[in-house]
Amino acid sequence: MSELTFFACGDTSHDMSRLLRGARRERRVFPAGAFLYRSGERRVLFDTGYAPEPWRAGPGGWAYRRMLPPRVRPGDTIAEQLDPASITHVVLSHLHPDHIGGVRFFPNAAFVLSEGVRRTLERPRLRDGLLRRLLPTWFGAATVLPSPVFAPGPHGLRTADLFGDGSYLLVDLPGHARGHLGALVEHEVLLAGDAAWGRDLLGAERRIRALPRLVSHDTPAQRATARVLLAAEQDGLRLLFSHDRHPTGRNLL
Ligand SMILES: [Zn+2]
Repeated sequence: MSELTFFACGDTSHDMSRLLRGARRERRVFPAGAFLYRSGERRVLFDTGYAPEPWRAGPGGWAYRRMLPPRVRPGDTIAEQLDPASITHVVLSHLHPDHIGGVRFFPNAAFVLSEGVRRTLERPRLRDGLLRRLLPTWFGAATVLPSPVFAPGPHGLRTADLFGDGSYLLVDLPGHARGHLGALVEHEVLLAGDAAWGRDLLGAERRIRALPRLVSHDTPAQRATARVLLAAEQDGLRLLFSHDRHPTGRNLL
């Protein structure tokens, strides 16, 4: 039997009225989510959450923390919630700090990176928001699988079959960050990463204020991705975003 479980690896909170035009003044907590898919011998982790404190990530890290203050309590990191040695694969949806903070715990896993993510690693631009000091020094020498080659797949998505058996399709979800990836697990659930800040904010891209929009890589592409995701959901697909609250310790498949 296979299983998909959710882990909240720290969180951040924001006044919604500063994020979205027309939103009420209320603070909302956004967990830094990671998803583990277990099937047979495979343990595939989608993203790794926040790094433990202190970050020591330089001036870029300081600026990021002012804008999006992380809260990482004891027990919050991914390594405290599962056995890191058991993980066979790590898929990184993109390289923002709330997704790569736990990479350091997985020196023996095979990493899955899109072509766009590789380009960001090679030549980061300021707006890519890459805090390289959050990545371990061994990361350059890590096992990295060939970048996915996408083709038209189910639900109007562009997909690449990671294991060749249909169980785990990588999904091209452009817009939020260069090379932003999702994953379609057993044709049931789409891990949609940061395609939206949360399910209820999917399709509200036009209301995102100028400052938070700065962190977005390609706004028109993000809107187009939102339309594809909304249609896929109409089609019966379940969408799980990285920063929504999902039940933990329960099979989400
Ligand atoms: Zn992001």
